[in-house]
Parts: sequence; C-alpha cells; structure tokens
Amino acid sequence: MSTSVLVINCGSSSIKYALVSERREDRIFGLAENLGSADARIKGVTTGGEALELSIPHADHEKALETILERLSHHNPQAIGHRVVHGGTLTKAELLTPEIIERIREATPLAPLHNPAHLVGIDATMRLFPELPQVAVFDTAFHQTMPSHAYRYALPKFLYTHHNVRRYGFHGTSHAYVSERGSMLAGSFKQGGWLTAHLGNGSSTCAIWNGQSVDTSMGLTPLEGVVMGTRSGDVDPSIHSFLASNLGWDIYKIDKMLNSQSGLLGLSDLSNDMRTLIEASEQGNEDAALAIEVFCYRLAKSLAGLSCGLPRIDGLFFTGGIGENSAYIREKTVSYLPHFGFNLSKDLNNNLKRGTEGRIDHGTGPQIWVVPTDEEGRIAKETEHVVDEVKAAAKKSDAYAAIA
Ligand code: AMP
Repeated sequence: MSTSVLVINCGSSSIKYALVSERREDRIFGLAENLGSADARIKGVTTGGEALELSIPHADHEKALETILERLSHHNPQAIGHRVVHGGTLTKAELLTPEIIERIREATPLAPLHNPAHLVGIDATMRLFPELPQVAVFDTAFHQTMPSHAYRYALPKFLYTHHNVRRYGFHGTSHAYVSERGSMLAGSFKQGGWLTAHLGNGSSTCAIWNGQSVDTSMGLTPLEGVVMGTRSGDVDPSIHSFLASNLGWDIYKIDKMLNSQSGLLGLSDLSNDMRTLIEASEQGNEDAALAIEVFCYRLAKSLAGLSCGLPRIDGLFFTGGIGENSAYIREKTVSYLPHFGFNLSKDLNNNLKRGTEGRIDHGTGPQIWVVPTDEEGRIAKETEHVVDEVKAAAKKSDAYAAIA
C-alpha cells in the first residue's frame, strides 16, 4: 500500500477503527464502545504500540468518529474504507455515492442488525470529511461468484426473483484474504482448490477454486452453517413451527434463541468462549466437552460438504480466533476428515506460535495451513484499489475532454 487508509466498522453501539499503512507494525487501531451511554469510551493502540484509553461520556457515533479522526488527522489518511456486512447483489467494493448508499439501504432487510449501523457511520463520516474518498467493502461481495446451484434455496422461485431470498455468504473479506495469502504461501497463488475455516465468535467455511468463492456455509443471513459462539448454525427449519405450536413462542423469541442463546453457549450452558470451554472440559465438564465435539464434527461435515464444489482439494486454511490459536480444535476437526487424506503433523500443529502463519501437515496429502486473517488490511487494500480506479477514470475523461 502506498497510502494510509482509515478502516471503519460501525456496529449499533460501537465503532472499530484501524489506520492501515504500509507496515503492519505501524497499524493504529481501537474500539469506541458503549456509544450513547455515560460509559462511552475509546480503547486502543496508538503510535508506537502505546495503549490508549479515553472517556467520551454520552458520545454518539458522530462525536466518536470526530474524536478518532482528530487524533489521527496528522497521519493524513487518504481515504476511508467502511466494512459493510450486506451489499445485496453488489459484487465488489464501491465508491460511496448516493446510489451505492441507497443500495446498502435496500439491503437492510437482509442484515437488519448490521446495515443500519453502517449507514449511521457512513452518514457521519460523509458529513465530517466530505473531501475524503470513501469506499464500502462488503462481506458478501466475495461470494457473488457462487454458481446458482450453490446460492439458490429449494424454495418457490418467486421468493428469489421478487424478494432476493438466496444464499449470500459472509466473512468474504476474511475468506478472500486468507485464501489469497495461503495459496501464495503454498506456491500456487489463486490457483487450485482450497477450503477455508474462519473460526471465531462467528464462524463460516468456504470453498475456493482458482481464487473465487464457489460455495460457503452462511446463507441469507449469518445464522446458517456451522456451530458458532451463540448462533445455532443449521437446524431443521421446522424448529420454528415446533416451538410455536408446543411452547407458544413467537418469531422474535425463536430468532433471539437461535442467534444469541444457542451454539457453544447453548450446548454447554456455560460459555460462548472456546477457551473457557476447553478449560472446563479438561476439568471434566461433560457439557463443555460435548459442545466442542459438536463444533468440530459439524465443522468437518461442512468442509466435506463444500468439497463438492471443488474439482480437487489442494488444502485447508484455518483462521479466526479459534482457528489461529487452538491446535486442539484443528486436530479434532481434521480427525473427522480421514477420507480426504489429510496428514496433520502433531508437532507442527502444537508448536505453531500464536499469531503466526505456518504449514502444519507432514507434506503428503492435501496441505493444512494456519493463516492469521487480516480483514482490516484487506478492506484498506480494496479501498485503495477503488480510489485508484476512480482517479484513473477521471484522468482519462479529462484527457478526452482536452482532445475534444
Ligand atoms: P474472534 O471472534 O475471531 O476474535 O475469536 C474469538 C474466539 O477465539 C473465542 O471463542 C475465543 O475463546 C477463541 N480463542 C482465542 N484464543 C484461543 C485459544 N488459545 N484457544 C482456544 N480458543 C481461543
């Protein structure tokens, strides 16, 4: 990267930010949280790796963004990149124009928790920094290359044609970054067939052929797919009518249960945090042990299912908080895939240092790698690319105008 880009990820009461420049060591990042409350504050890391903690009582999104930008203005960011969860059918990162903002607004029914918060952030930064080019980078865009047999549900056609009910997929910036970086490390940049497992509080899997997503585990919303921290992943859709008929639950209660009270938390009745569950299971907690087993089995099942989208499997990449840090989960997951010929090296797997990338198989069969994700870096790169393209197009039209 030749410029510095401010990456912003606005949630309903928080804003994650990162100033991304050439060297990863120079990155300045932080989190503004509890926005709108007396306890609003910014926590992060500033120049030279120094810790930052700043109280901003009752600050809203705009005030918090103003404070963040004030602190970063001497670094002279040249663009702002916004993470946007749902881009509907937009296939790539886009310069924020009134038309693109409207497309993000139109996709709100598909991401009711995320897109409105992103729009608040976009609105504030557009007002505060009208001179800076701003770009939206979508979690869904990478998966727009999926073929229709992977993205269509077996539902009445009009739900797709009139109401956009289809599989979209999420975590696209992570799957894109990890598969590019991983295939480069493997010596076959954007070539061949790879599976990625992004395992964090939210988790998803992806099948990538020659650098393009061909299938992924999340669907219309980020609830479909593998077991997550508090999300159920796949369940029988009839659970809704079962709970409504037998327990009298309404749709909101069922939705809340599936999104916030299920997954690792629901199974273990203890925690959504994998570290806590591994410790509890080591101390004999059977519910924690079962939660881990279900997580790994269902993850392996998802990877096996996605492999149908690949002409061949060159390897598997683990990433996300769990994928990057837990040798135990990696080993358990691979043990459920014996028929793929994976040959995990216990030593390489156990000895991989936290936060580092590396290959963890014996060198026979499909490769297995750990590749720490870098969603902010990827968003910054895509932002810079869009800004460069727009500048090049403007130059070209100026040149035409001069000739004419
Ligand atoms: P993320 O959402 O990517 O930040 O990942 C959060 C998840 O990573 C939580 O479930 C953490 O418990 C898990 N995690 C982080 N470090 C470890 C570790 N050393 N072993 C197991 N899980 C971990």
